[in-house]
Amino acid sequence: MDIAHLPRRTFLRGAAGLAVAGAAGLVLPRAAQAATEPRIYSCAEWGARPPTDALTTLDHPANRILIHHIASANSTDYSLAHAFQVARDDQHDHIDNNGWSDTGQHFTVSRGGYRLEGRHGSLDALRGRTTMIQGAHCPGQNTNAIGIENEGLYTSVEPPETQFASLVVFCAYICRQYGIPVEEIKGHRDFYNTECPGDRLYAKLPLLRSEVAKALKSM
Ligand SMILES: [Zn+2]
Repeated sequence: MDIAHLPRRTFLRGAAGLAVAGAAGLVLPRAAQAATEPRIYSCAEWGARPPTDALTTLDHPANRILIHHIASANSTDYSLAHAFQVARDDQHDHIDNNGWSDTGQHFTVSRGGYRLEGRHGSLDALRGRTTMIQGAHCPGQNTNAIGIENEGLYTSVEPPETQFASLVVFCAYICRQYGIPVEEIKGHRDFYNTECPGDRLYAKLPLLRSEVAKALKSM
């Protein structure tokens, strides 16, 4: 497994990109690889329950992002309060119904475009760039892939534009922090027998990758 090599290659590409940007006369901070963080609401902010068991911090960065849909109602409540409720409901479902220690995925995006932490510690790990919290969002991928759940059900309708745009920003930040190539933004169904993230959201993954690539260039 060459997990350790992926970020390094990407950092080298990033360094080459900086040289070009520097030649164009842009003033870049010394630690330009660290991107400005978009607003991500922490577990404390949305009122998460404590995990029921100790979570595992893995001593390496993530090398993939898996896109999910919650398969929840396509609510037209796009408020922050609703996003917080979605995060709490999802956590209750994962702990009480699935028997997991905490929310399965690392992060969540609401239909209103709010970005939230899922599993405790995921945000600090992302900020630190060198570790990740072991997830519970896809068997076989939980020790290397960041899971992002999107509120809603996308088997026959597309996600709202606001949600998709927010997902682009979020993925770009995660790719930058962990050095994940955009090609490694995948759907849950790519690694597990599931409909997730729904035909309509799955069909947008090529667009997601190209939009994230664009966003990364301007970070
Ligand atoms: Zn899924």
